[in-house]
Amino acid sequence: MGLPCFFIRLAGCNLHCRYCDTEYARSGGTEEEISALIDLWKDSRVSLVQVTGGEPLLQPGVYPLMEGLLDAGASVLLETNGSVPLNQVPWKVVKVVDIKTPGSGMEESWHEENLRWLAGYDQLKFVLTSRQDYEWACSQVRRLNLNSYCNVLFSAAWNTLPPSVLADWIVEDRMAVRFQLQLHKVLWGEKTAH
Ligand code: SF4
Repeated sequence: MGLPCFFIRLAGCNLHCRYCDTEYARSGGTEEEISALIDLWKDSRVSLVQVTGGEPLLQPGVYPLMEGLLDAGASVLLETNGSVPLNQVPWKVVKVVDIKTPGSGMEESWHEENLRWLAGYDQLKFVLTSRQDYEWACSQVRRLNLNSYCNVLFSAAWNTLPPSVLADWIVEDRMAVRFQLQLHKVLWGEKTAH
């Protein structure tokens, strides 16, 4: 968080989270050549690129896109909703994988086998809407021993759970998770997307 980053947002999503802040990315979009996207990234002069959505793994072209960005020297992050198998994602890509909570309405979407495809530098992320979500997430961290796979992030859903309340809970419970803030919204307001 905090590093300048070039975003490639792929259209389309298979989920319908209650708090979705990128409704515009769930459909539509424009067709682009992979080489053109890589050229745009090069022109940006930013080394870090994030491939996100929608759900980016729904488009088969995402794999040659990630390979092409890596070959061109980019540091590549992939943000995915956790419902699609990660087995084809190149190992050099840092994966930021959601585990959807009951508050999202999509808690059945988590593809648990994805734990097999995580590396220590990847991140598992819970976006939390309530105390009930927080307790559910804590129970998943313990049940699946998630800290043994990679970094675990707890983030507060914007305008739903005050970030300071979540931070207090994490400290009180001594949870070994990283608190995450939607920094772009703090800086530029709630109309900016993740
Ligand atoms: S996975 Fe992301 S883009 Fe899809 S509905 Fe949920 S928040 Fe929106």
